Amino acid sequence: MQGLLTFMGTGTSMGVPTLGCDCEVCASPDPRDKRLRPSVLLRWNQRGRERAVVIDTGPDFREQALRNGLTRVDAVFYTHSHADHILGLDDLRPLSFTVFREGGPIPLYASAETAAVLEHIFDYTFSRRATYPNRARVLLHPLGERTAVHGVEVLRIPVMHGPMEIAGFRFGNAAYLTDVSTIPEESFGLLEGLDHLVLSALRHKPHPTHATVEQALGWARRIGAKQTWFTHIAHELGHKQTNHSLPAGVALAYDGLTLPVTL
Ligand SMILES: [Zn+2]
Ligand SMILES: [Zn+2]
Repeated sequence: MQGLLTFMGTGTSMGVPTLGCDCEVCASPDPRDKRLRPSVLLRWNQRGRERAVVIDTGPDFREQALRNGLTRVDAVFYTHSHADHILGLDDLRPLSFTVFREGGPIPLYASAETAAVLEHIFDYTFSRRATYPNRARVLLHPLGERTAVHGVEVLRIPVMHGPMEIAGFRFGNAAYLTDVSTIPEESFGLLEGLDHLVLSALRHKPHPTHATVEQALGWARRIGAKQTWFTHIAHELGHKQTNHSLPAGVALAYDGLTLPVTL
């Protein structure tokens, strides 16, 4: 089955431009230097019906949904519970009303740790005592190793984000690994034969919980996908200059980039 993978946001937690910053990248007129918070959208056609899955609903989710003409969401997969990946959850509300009328709440797949944070922050949505009538029609599901969504299998790829184990995902010939600082040895075996690998690469300077461009390049070489795309990019990396410095088969992604994927 063929699908489309769209980068809805390729920025780091603060987004680019970063508030209060007038550096060359933040001031750049190149649209590829404007990066919303990190998220991807996976779409495919199942027997004439368009299906849509989102990985993470960050603070820019509403704007991302508008830009990409998103009218429904069939499932959300969460990588982890940091603000840049979850705080747009409430903007699922209008889409969830449509999905709910068709048969039920939008399933949200999250690890136990991520679910606990979501339940705490969005207490008015998830609590048994919640009475807010316009709360999102969403239901948390434990994230297993493999999850089937309307004919597509999503495989969880454990990665480390500083001391936290978080989730990366593989679907068909593509994988999305964001907020990575280390890839456990066992996870490399789940990343063989990829056409598209998406990896986070924050900047050149080391960071305690995010890979640098150099670390990400090392993993890209080892995994050997046909094409590797970097995401979760900070304002230290200008699109054009950085892309010139990357080897063949590796490039920075940018908001709106859409790739054909085999699911
Ligand atoms: Zn992040
Ligand atoms: Zn994070």
